[in-house]
This record gives sequence, C-alpha cells and structure tokens, in this order.
Amino acid sequence: MTATSLWSKIKFMKHSEKLFNDAKNILVGGVNSPVRAFKGVGGTPIFMKKGYGPYLVSEDEKTYIDYVLSWGPMLLGHADPDVTLAITEAATLGTSFGTPSLSETTLATLIQDFYPGMEKIRLVNSGTEATMSAIRLARGVTKKDLLIKFNGCYHGHSDSLLVAAGSGGLTFGFPDSAGVLADVAKNTIILDYNDHEALTAVFKEKGTNIAAVIIEPVTGNMGIIKPAEPFIHALRALCDTYNSLLIFDEVMCGFRVQFGPTSETLGIKPDITVLGKVIGGGLPCGAYGASSDIMSHLSPEGPVYQAGTLSGNPIVMAAGIATLSKLKANRESFSIAVSLTQDLCLGLSDIIRHKKISAHVVNQGSMWCVFYTDKKVQNLADVQGCDFESFNRFFHNMLEGGVYLAPSQYESCFMSVVHNEKNIQKTLEICQNSM
Ligand SMILES: *Cc1c(COP(=O)(O)O)cnc(C)c1O
Repeated sequence: MTATSLWSKIKFMKHSEKLFNDAKNILVGGVNSPVRAFKGVGGTPIFMKKGYGPYLVSEDEKTYIDYVLSWGPMLLGHADPDVTLAITEAATLGTSFGTPSLSETTLATLIQDFYPGMEKIRLVNSGTEATMSAIRLARGVTKKDLLIKFNGCYHGHSDSLLVAAGSGGLTFGFPDSAGVLADVAKNTIILDYNDHEALTAVFKEKGTNIAAVIIEPVTGNMGIIKPAEPFIHALRALCDTYNSLLIFDEVMCGFRVQFGPTSETLGIKPDITVLGKVIGGGLPCGAYGASSDIMSHLSPEGPVYQAGTLSGNPIVMAAGIATLSKLKANRESFSIAVSLTQDLCLGLSDIIRHKKISAHVVNQGSMWCVFYTDKKVQNLADVQGCDFESFNRFFHNMLEGGVYLAPSQYESCFMSVVHNEKNIQKTLEICQNSM
C-alpha cells in the first residue's frame, strides 16, 4: 500500500467513525434499524449520501456497486428516472389526503396483475404492518389462536413474531425480545424450516387450534433456502385438513424469485399473501391480500380491525405504480437481472472451486448469497454452522474493494435490472482477492 492510499484510508476511517459517533449521540446505536450497525460483521457502517443505478456513493465520495439495494426494494436500481419523476409530480399535488384516491386502486390493480390470487388487497406502510395484520385476519377468520412460524424466517417485529423456540419437547414459544409478553409468545409455535415430520406432529396435537402458518416461501432472512417438496406439500395439506390458513410472506422474495407469485415455482398456493419492499419502489409500503371471502372479514366490511392514517399515501402509491408498471412493460428486464445473477454466481462458484474454499453460492431469481460451508443449507441450524469469521473477512475485503454486500451471513444479496456485465466482471475481480 502506498503512503497516499494508506493516508486516504485512515482519513476515510476517521470520517466514517466520526459520522457514526455523532449519530450514536442522538440515535440509538447510531441507526434506525439494528442490522445497519454492522454488529454481525464488525467495523463501522458506511454513511451513504446518494444512489444512482446500481451504485451507492458514501459521504466520503467513494462509489460502491450495491448488492443490498435497500435490503431488496430497489429492483429498478437507485433513482430510476421514471420513479423519481412520478414521486416529484405526486408531491406537487399534495402529500396526503386521508381520503380514497385513484392511485390506491391503480397500485392494487397492478399488484393483482402479478398476484391474481390476491382478489382483494389492503395497502399498509411496511412489511411488519402487513404480516401483523395478516395474522390478525387469519385469527379472525378461523376463530383460532395459534400461529406456526419457522426458525430463521423473519416476518417483521410485531410481538407474536419475536418469539424463540421452546427447548426440548416444548413446542410453545418464548419471547425472543425483552418487552414481549410470555402470554403472547406462547401462542406462537416455532418449528424448523423443512422439518415436515415436526410440522405433522404439531398439527396432530394442536391442529384444531392452529389459526395460521406463516412462512417465507423462499427464505431471504437466513440466506436463501428453497423449501423441500415434501415439506411444502405437507404444509398445504395440513392447513387444508385442519382449516388453518397458510400465509406466504413474500415481502422479500416477491418480484425476486420470479416474475409473479413464488407459489408458481412451488406448486402450491397460499391463502394469504403478504408483500412489501419492491411494491413501494423504495418508499414505505406493504400489502396483504387473499380471496374476497377471506378479505371480507376485514374492517370496514367485517369485524377484524386494521387502519392507517398514511396507508395508501399518494407519493408512495406513485413510486409503487411507476415501479410495477415499468416492470410489467419490460418483462425482459427481469430476465436480465436473473441472468446477471446467474453469471455472478457461476463466477463466484469458479473462484470458490479454484481456491478450494469451504463455501457455496445459492441463487434464486435475482437473489443470491454465499454460505461459508460445504454442507447444503436447509434450516437455521445449518446457517449457524457456517464459518462466520471467513464470511466477515470476505465482506470487509469486498467493501474495501468497492462492493457493498449484505453485512451478515444471515442476509441475502440482490441484483437490480440496471446492473451490467461490467459490474459483474469488476465484482468477480475483487472477489478473487477477497475470499
Ligand atoms: C423485510 C421483511 C419484513 C418486514 O418488512 P419491514 O418493511 O421492514 O417492516 C417482513 N417479512 C420479510 C420476509 C421481510 O424480508
């Protein structure tokens, strides 16, 4: 390393650290969402000041190829001109009305074009709000109490979802966060992903009181795991037998695994679908939907209450409409993102093979991740068995080389439709010296 580059590195470190320290004086842990704090990988998070296309630019004027994409939403890349124009135009017409507006119907209709199973839709402000409300709806419809959730799946931070598995033979959940009541947690049963035997046993024992099962139909929050066929089919069959509702949380995998419902790749259909991230085009948005019959239980048509002052906000709707209509008009752009992801993953796999590293790459649509293990990853315990030290070194080397990856072995990375072959080549070059 030359003296100048060493000096610029020290200056850079200092700047980042100063910004982070200032932030920590006023924001809890310096952030407004914990994973941004780099706790998993160590070091100081980078403060970004702008994004364009596949790039993020830090406060230090360093440009990164971005594979986090705001944790998924920016499928069109940063500052897409059509989305930016739509937001700007909408803002000049007033930022919130608290009345019905045409843009809500338009976005819901676009969502339905992709997800025809969502006969009726409710728009909300985040993925958390959507999953929380979908669970309330499921309980209201079935008049049952219990919820099944899988270890390692993330569905936002509402109380009944911040639950950890009971030990040994216990299947009732325990609070996984201070402030969550044991009385609430006990209504959530935690099982291992892909364990259809445990699932069957729990249904046999408690099925008559199971309101719903919530699942990431392809996971993104413990890296990428696709469910095994016997597991996903057992899941559908058990929900049918016991009149429990199956909730697909597609907040992350929606518009990512494929151009339409993830269920199409799995051969089964959910009862309720939850979306977020991509549908808001980078603004806060969530949605849940189901058959008209199920949704008719929701207020104002039915007895299950759920509301939101800013739900269906016109600026958010404008960003969502611009995003989904652009995707709809350019179906091939989705295939471009997928084939770039495949190119990147093939290149990564080559590097791993040549260097004889104990790692492998997983790819689903425009989602990808590197697991630092030789073993096939099928559940949370498998992810926990990865070599975290090697992952963290890889992450920091890539970051220094100008490639922004998800700062945790538990997260997945994404591709946008505006990444290009050059980005992939550069990423692979940096990877050569980073793994
Ligand atoms: C991100 C995410 C959520 C939560 O969405 P927020 O908008 O962060 O509240 C829920 N479920 C899944 C699968 C997610 O990836």
